[in-house]
Amino acid sequence: MPLHHLKTLRTRLQKNQPASQGTPVTFAGACPTFEVIALGVRSGVADGNLSSYLIRPLGTNEAVLCDAGTLGNGLKRAEAKGVLNDIPIMPNSALSRAGHVLKQTVRAYLISHSHLDHVAGLVFTSPEDTAKPLYALSQTNAILAEHLFNNRVWGAMGDKGPEPRIGKYSYHNMEPGQAQIVQGTGLTITAWPLSHASTTSTAFLIQHEGQAILYLGDTQADQADGPRNLHKLWEAIAPLVQNNTLNTIIMGATYPDSQPDDALCGQLRPKDLLASLRELGHICGGRHHIRGLRVIITHVKETFHDGECPTQQIYRDLQEGNDIGIHFLMAEQSARYLV
Ligand SMILES: [Zn+2]
Repeated sequence: MPLHHLKTLRTRLQKNQPASQGTPVTFAGACPTFEVIALGVRSGVADGNLSSYLIRPLGTNEAVLCDAGTLGNGLKRAEAKGVLNDIPIMPNSALSRAGHVLKQTVRAYLISHSHLDHVAGLVFTSPEDTAKPLYALSQTNAILAEHLFNNRVWGAMGDKGPEPRIGKYSYHNMEPGQAQIVQGTGLTITAWPLSHASTTSTAFLIQHEGQAILYLGDTQADQADGPRNLHKLWEAIAPLVQNNTLNTIIMGATYPDSQPDDALCGQLRPKDLLASLRELGHICGGRHHIRGLRVIITHVKETFHDGECPTQQIYRDLQEGNDIGIHFLMAEQSARYLV
């Protein structure tokens, strides 16, 4: 990364300036298909800014939300910054724009796994929400129904689990590798399992009119004696990288490279992420296939430590190891990306 860019990033982070006042991040090349709005991007103690990405085909009022660690706060912040202004909502009430986006635009939730930093926003916003499908692998849906929306931790918002049920959210179990259409939208989604500490996480491929974007929930690096879920995911999506219909991936780099091997909690460091992307390049038939691939980095752990901002440290680690020409972007809350 050129030094002046790093300085700009550092200055912006220090001053806590937003990435944009509603201005999207755009890229040279083919026309964008999707708008990605980062409603929340961090993990750890950053409550109010936890994993949540609104993904919408441009020009439509149909979006899915990939995880919902932060939801109401993310929508309100996005509205205040003008980030929601391009969504063609149909105002017909006293609702705010954020309210319309929640109730009208978001057609479904894709939940990668049941950890609270990926579902807390969904819980808190649920009383104000409209009825929606909730897509996840069966393991994740079962945990949400039994242990979260269960009338004890929170109201039984789903259509499975302990009775009596409110039934606002309908659980849709996804079969790994099987594409399906999101109810009421022109979006096709496919899920693959990811290994993440003691639970199963999920990667979601979202497709619209021949173009795709890939979102990965929390994942650890493949182990030689494990299920090698990242390897299987890369094998599945490699044809889309090769034919250039998938050029943006959202995935986590939670800790810097200095984090010890035995303290990763099922997450990736920059060096683990880079090693996995090199494997993707190999599967695609050569690194030239992934040169210029855009990887939006999410889930950077926020702590109470003084010192260098972890986002800067992780970005530097990524750039120093980036011998494969990946275009890394550090996700920022309320930023929007046209991809
Ligand atoms: Zn997790």
